[in-house]
Amino acid sequence: MEWYNIKCPDCGYGTELVVGTPTPEESFDLNEDFSHYVPVLCESCKSVITLDLFDKRREAVCPCGGKGRPLQEEELGKIDCPSCGGKRLKVDMVRKD
Ligand SMILES: [Zn+2]
Ligand SMILES: [Zn+2]
Repeated sequence: MEWYNIKCPDCGYGTELVVGTPTPEESFDLNEDFSHYVPVLCESCKSVITLDLFDKRREAVCPCGGKGRPLQEEELGKIDCPSCGGKRLKVDMVRKD
């Protein structure tokens, strides 16, 4: 799995995203059998969240009820700030297994 830190220098918005599949040890820690974490951009509240989309039949739905669009990893650096709409979001990979 990869952990990303996203920060907006304009408004201070920040969030952490997890991408990928947990290693067996992590699955054990998280008490999960199968997971595949995907960053999702909500089309209604514009938040970027992490959802477990292992089950592909499950729709990417934001906690706000909005429909989410799964993001490719390379898209992470191109999205606008969900909070202020700024275009200078800084994406750092903070950890990788
Ligand atoms: Zn939402
Ligand atoms: Zn911002």
